[in-house]
Amino acid sequence: MAIRILPDQLINQIKAGEVVERPSAVVKELVENSLDAGATRVEIEVEQGGLNLIRIRDNGSGIPREELPVALQRHATSKIQNMDDLERVGSLGFRGEALPSILSVSRLTLTSRVADASHGWQVSGAGAYENEEPKPAAHAVGTTVEACDLFYNTPARRKFMKAESTEFRHISQFINRIALCRFDAGFTLKHNQRRTLDLAPADSEPEREARVAQICGDDFVRNAIRIDEQRMGLSLQGWVGLPSFARTQADLQYLYVNGRAVRDKLLGHALRRAFADAMHSTHYPAFVLYLELDPVGVDVNVHPQKTEVRFRESARVHDFLFGAVHQLLRRQRPEPEQHHHA
Ligand code: ADP
Ligand code: MG
Repeated sequence: MAIRILPDQLINQIKAGEVVERPSAVVKELVENSLDAGATRVEIEVEQGGLNLIRIRDNGSGIPREELPVALQRHATSKIQNMDDLERVGSLGFRGEALPSILSVSRLTLTSRVADASHGWQVSGAGAYENEEPKPAAHAVGTTVEACDLFYNTPARRKFMKAESTEFRHISQFINRIALCRFDAGFTLKHNQRRTLDLAPADSEPEREARVAQICGDDFVRNAIRIDEQRMGLSLQGWVGLPSFARTQADLQYLYVNGRAVRDKLLGHALRRAFADAMHSTHYPAFVLYLELDPVGVDVNVHPQKTEVRFRESARVHDFLFGAVHQLLRRQRPEPEQHHHA
């Protein structure tokens, strides 16, 4: 075959394979967009594990009429403009890939209204945007994105979808994960018309702790120690489960770097080592931890899903995390020697 540039929709579908490989990834991209738009309420509704319908409604800033078609274009973003912005990016999104990717594999409707508009506007497309003019639509200030029949036009992908309940579990786990770090927003989740989660914004410390208890269980909060450590531009806060609260699965491990949930080998290693003296190696610690550092010291542009990061000074970050948690656990343990000498 001769070398040719791929058609736009196919490029977007290839991208969609990386960015939105299952319904929970679509939910992730859309909820992150809502939070980036300053939403304090995010309503998530899904049907049949998200395969039939994913609808996310927020009360964020909205998108003006003339920008609606642009939002559906590849590499179109309001969040960064140059390399400097990328180096210090504070928003969850910045690649301008989510909406065009989701559109390329679903029937998508985007409805939005900004504060100074008298009503909302809507654009839609199935697989691609056909450049129709936005239509007027009733909507409060904010945005609703509806994605129906996910992967209807990519049968190979559709075949990889698991049972409805499995896909929904991924969605629900993602909402828990983001709700544990975005206390500034409220979240509701509905599956097949049934409400499974309802969280109001948690502005005070007791409200935040109540949210952690609601998601991780009262038991976890009762068996966790608060951590609050700052050293040389690094900060670690959150809840560290006591070694006695060890789990047989790694199902209660939440780690955020600058407000982003990450899976990171280096940080995982630091935490495993911190617990190593206190816990049997077949068990897993429980924690909800927020690591903060200067955004310039961490590269989030490593992977399309942005769940991986790279640290400029990885050894320093590792040692800080290890040291802070290890010392906290050491202080917690009784010191047998003192009893012997008493
Ligand atoms: P990115 O989030 O990387 O910028 P997206 O494709 O997810 O790319 O979104 C494209 C643009 O559409 C965003 O930069 C933003 O300006 C706008 N947008 C998307 N979703 C929302 C939303 N819920 N509220 C307001 N603006 C939005
Ligand atoms: Mg986005």
